[in-house]
Amino acid sequence: MKDTATDELTAAARKVRDRAHGTRVTYSPKVFIPLTMLCRDRCGYCTFAKAPARLPTPYLSPEEVLAVARSGSAAGCHEALFTLGERPEVRYPTAARWLAEHGYGTTVDYLVAMCRLVLEETGLLPHANAGALYHEELASLRPVTASQGMMVETLVPGLAAHRRAPDKLPARRLATLEAAGELAIPFTTGILVGIGETREDRLAALEAIAESHRRHGQVQEVIVQNFLPKPGTAMATHPPCPQEELRWSIAAARLVLPPEVHVQAPPNLSDDLEPLLAAGIDDWGGVSPVTADHVNPERAWPAVDVLRAATEAAGHTLAARLTVYPEYVLEPERWLEPTLRFAVLDRSDAEGLAREDGWCSGGETPPPALLKRSGSAGGAVAEVLAGVALGQEVGEAEIVTLFSARGPEVRAVAEAADGLRTDTVGNEVTYVANRNINYTNVCTFKCRFCAFSKGPLSLNLRGSPYLLDLDEITRRVAEAEAEGATEVCLQGGIHPNFDGEYYLHVLGAVRAASERIHIHGFTALEVTEGARRSGEPLTEYLVRLREAGLRTLPGTAAEILDDDVRAVLCPDKINTEQWLEAHRAAHSVGLRSNVTIMFGAVEQPVSWARHMVRTRALQRETGGFTEFVPLPFVHMATPIYLQRRARRGPTFREALLMHAVGRIAYRGAIDNIQVSWVKMGVEGARQCLQAGVNDLGGTLMDENISRAAGASHGQRMGAQELAALVAPLGRPLVRRTTLYGR
Ligand code: SF4
Repeated sequence: MKDTATDELTAAARKVRDRAHGTRVTYSPKVFIPLTMLCRDRCGYCTFAKAPARLPTPYLSPEEVLAVARSGSAAGCHEALFTLGERPEVRYPTAARWLAEHGYGTTVDYLVAMCRLVLEETGLLPHANAGALYHEELASLRPVTASQGMMVETLVPGLAAHRRAPDKLPARRLATLEAAGELAIPFTTGILVGIGETREDRLAALEAIAESHRRHGQVQEVIVQNFLPKPGTAMATHPPCPQEELRWSIAAARLVLPPEVHVQAPPNLSDDLEPLLAAGIDDWGGVSPVTADHVNPERAWPAVDVLRAATEAAGHTLAARLTVYPEYVLEPERWLEPTLRFAVLDRSDAEGLAREDGWCSGGETPPPALLKRSGSAGGAVAEVLAGVALGQEVGEAEIVTLFSARGPEVRAVAEAADGLRTDTVGNEVTYVANRNINYTNVCTFKCRFCAFSKGPLSLNLRGSPYLLDLDEITRRVAEAEAEGATEVCLQGGIHPNFDGEYYLHVLGAVRAASERIHIHGFTALEVTEGARRSGEPLTEYLVRLREAGLRTLPGTAAEILDDDVRAVLCPDKINTEQWLEAHRAAHSVGLRSNVTIMFGAVEQPVSWARHMVRTRALQRETGGFTEFVPLPFVHMATPIYLQRRARRGPTFREALLMHAVGRIAYRGAIDNIQVSWVKMGVEGARQCLQAGVNDLGGTLMDENISRAAGASHGQRMGAQELAALVAPLGRPLVRRTTLYGR
């Protein structure tokens, strides 16, 4: 490999990168915390390390550490990168004295305390870059860091650059890397290029890293960093690493390392970013909106917008990540201490990447304007969209690919979906005038995402248990009809005292108020329980409900139709097959229903894809579904979030894509895609209407379920408010019946 021409090597590296990582290039929004700039080593290229006389204090104080971390947190960072010199207390009495005065034995002890402080006070995820550490030192940092790192740099013994650096002994570096593997620490390492080593030396270092990774799987990324001479250092007159050597080395890293290992080149150390991408990197490393690169202070970080533009110009998409990469985020039991698991989960999206904005379903933060971005899709997303344009049906793998869309790809997916929407149902935006009646919030089930139910074991987070009496149901229906509603939506908890007849009594109470109003009610769980409690086959029970006035069933209780996820979210509820069977039975007796999906709590996109494929297959069989309704998880007051076992719902990108991908996946099967304004908010719903959605659902007097979970959007939206929502889009708002009549 050492004699292979750079262009040949980079072409091979690009292929490997594209196969393993697609078009995605990541970066970590972070703040740098230079805990101490004292170091016992004297590397020939370093300007980071200072003499004690040049520093006001040997270490940053806890207050200074927190101030930097807080400024990063406010600027949207996820990572606190602690950079520091190696064991300064061994060389400088002033450092040893400072540590002793503050109650610490070593720099690593103080680092542990400061990582914990930042984690607890700001939620930023600490990454410690403390040099060559011993097994027990790495172990002491594991409970307070999400990842750790140490550059191998080079394994050449006695290199001039390292002659006065006792910690740069190759054996010490490799031992640290190995100990990190034994401790299952997601680890960042890398090589320095151009400090006097040869190509063979670089290959040897990369091979040693690859071997350690093959043993333990701990190497999440390898940084390929080019040497730049700095004035005032021993190597000030040494020539900088030639661009050609950097490109060759990046490509070599990509080819020597197992393909899953991420390869990074710092964007602030090269004037032109495109050649780095072309050499095979898939990560830009840490980029700070608030702090300088303390190791290379003369080279400012590019703004994220500049990085994004350069990345997209090269046909890639840019995604923010956490300090710990998705492969490790999605396997927390192995790679993260229990102390870190929720901190990581709380900042991650469904793919294990970083949440990119502060939006959450039902919250007050406005969504980002994702459809304003220009550009076009490349890579796998573009390939799937090309198939969609040819009329091909998307399967599980293609759906997962569409959910991976970022940057301009999101707009491309939304545009494809909106084109299908126009072809299928035209420009009208529909809604139904309806009222929700949640007749009881008492429930024997223990769905962990549900803040609405008040069972004996629930957390009783909001409100108290209630059961409406039948007269009150009649009164509410009469009131709704007087106000022009054409539908009532009946849903509630599964009260321990209900028998199968209860649901028939509810239907009677509705009919007592109105002969005409459309009764949309009773989830698959409710009808399955009703049939079970009355001891009759589900189909016969559904016929009795139909004869008593029931017309359509809501799809809720579907949550995610993937039993592995249901085992976490709602272990005692009906399973996937029972949900499908209830809807199959309903369709067979002439009752129609819809498909919902409650997403963003714990699952990954593959479960969303399975949900779509399974419901689409049933629709092909029965034709009974009227619409698809994405219901983003509203996290705030739910038991599972409060128990620190769920994410804070989908990101806005994920929620928008759920509508768009739904439109694409259900093409030719389900014509109507509905957005829930309760969960998406007005601005969010408006963007969904440009991503394949044609229906706004109901006006929903008395929406209780999302509000119980903490949603702040209103309980009701009148026709005028819906008109205002739609007006900027220039599309007509049309009132419909439940079954999409006019
Ligand atoms: S989601 Fe429904 S079944 Fe589950 S606890 Fe809440 S009310 Fe009960």
